[in-house]
Amino acid sequence: MQAAVDKIVDEFAVSDEKLFELLDAFQKQATEGLQKSTERGMPMIPTYMTKVPKGTEKGTYLAADLGGTNFRVCSVTLDGNHGHNLVQEKWPVPHDLQVGSSKEFFKFLAKKVQDFLCKHHEEHMERSDSEFRMGFTFSFPVDQHSTNSGTLLRWTKGFDIKDAVGKDVTELFQQELDALDLKVHIAAIVNDTVGALMARSYHNDNPSQTIVGCIFGTGTNAAYFEKVKRIGKFKGKCDAKIMAVNTEWGSFDNDLTVLPNTRFDVALNKLTANRDFHMFEKRVSGMFLGELLRQVLLELNSSGLMFKGSESHILTEPWGTDTSVPSIMETDTSDDLTLVGEQLQQHFGLDSTLDERRATLAIAHAIGTRAAYIAATAVCGLLKLTEALDIFDSVDIGGDGSVFEFYPNFVQNIRKAMRVLIGDDEQRVTFGLAKDGSGVGAALCALEQE
Ligand code: ADP
Ligand code: MG
Repeated sequence: MQAAVDKIVDEFAVSDEKLFELLDAFQKQATEGLQKSTERGMPMIPTYMTKVPKGTEKGTYLAADLGGTNFRVCSVTLDGNHGHNLVQEKWPVPHDLQVGSSKEFFKFLAKKVQDFLCKHHEEHMERSDSEFRMGFTFSFPVDQHSTNSGTLLRWTKGFDIKDAVGKDVTELFQQELDALDLKVHIAAIVNDTVGALMARSYHNDNPSQTIVGCIFGTGTNAAYFEKVKRIGKFKGKCDAKIMAVNTEWGSFDNDLTVLPNTRFDVALNKLTANRDFHMFEKRVSGMFLGELLRQVLLELNSSGLMFKGSESHILTEPWGTDTSVPSIMETDTSDDLTLVGEQLQQHFGLDSTLDERRATLAIAHAIGTRAAYIAATAVCGLLKLTEALDIFDSVDIGGDGSVFEFYPNFVQNIRKAMRVLIGDDEQRVTFGLAKDGSGVGAALCALEQE
């Protein structure tokens, strides 16, 4: 067993040479994406968001956030001094709605907005002259035509509502809000990464400049401020000098020219609805790291090397494990690895020996570390592309998502790989949690349009 595990751990290792290859490829593919959109390239979507928040913005706005797992509705009050107040409710999105019709889906979202308003904003429901401006955080690739319109390019993260592809998602949602007579106007459609970028800029009261907002949650993606004149393919009207670009970096290297590709990655890709797309995401984000762990354990079990005593396990069931599983395992510091054992039992129905628990932890660690190392190449790619470290003394990066927030040492591991890639300059980069990023960011985008 030990030899097989060591070999697999080795297959997940990322060499310094590989890091540089990935960095080069990222810069090249991102630069191409700024010039031209292609089906398989990095989308690099202009977002029409051109104002960098200062922290002095004020007012109360609604925000709706469709991530990959939950739908959240909140009202956000910006206090005008880097701070905010937020009231929120969240609901999981039922699986049948994630793959059903767009009408039923947006009706569900509108109904939740109604529930939220009835519970928290009775005054709005009672007054006929009031209108709420809402920012809609929609974390899927959308080709934006203005701040509040854009067509859905494709679904990711397990969603597959076929009749919504190619349609304007703001329009679909607005129709259902109007059908309920909610007096809510969708003023902005906001990618969650743009939300994180805006929210972090608003909260950041250091002299450092926030230039990237990234998400490591169900999926992974980032937005950054780019010079409008460098966005070659942007043909819209814009007087501003800079604009937030939604990279959709989940699609970095869809053709696998440089990304590591183990047999476990190959097997995982085959199980996904968006096969051969979002190949970077499938090695980095929350929807996939638990599944990768399952793939490895399944192989070791099938070849008779691990968990021989467990007969009624459920290792053969795809997507049974969320990334909280390896994440919790990696927090285990007990001598007999109690937490690892509990997770194996709870999620896979596996009894384990101490050696098996040690092996499992080593594999989880290898998968999590590879994710962070690969992520670092994309982060550094954006730093290089923007020449931010030549322009500013210190550069700030806003992050959000459960993997970013909770996965043990995820950010430290990103930093480790960054040290390899940019040396001492890594010290001039700060990472901060974009607290309530999607809510505050959406509010800031809804406000920008007034
Ligand atoms: P969303 O993507 O819907 O905005 P999150 O940012 O909370 O939501 O990300 C959800 C993903 O995070 C899930 O795919 C899950 O696998 C992963 N996750 C949940 N809890 C943890 C945890 N404690 N540590 C690491 N990852 C987690
Ligand atoms: Mg999210």
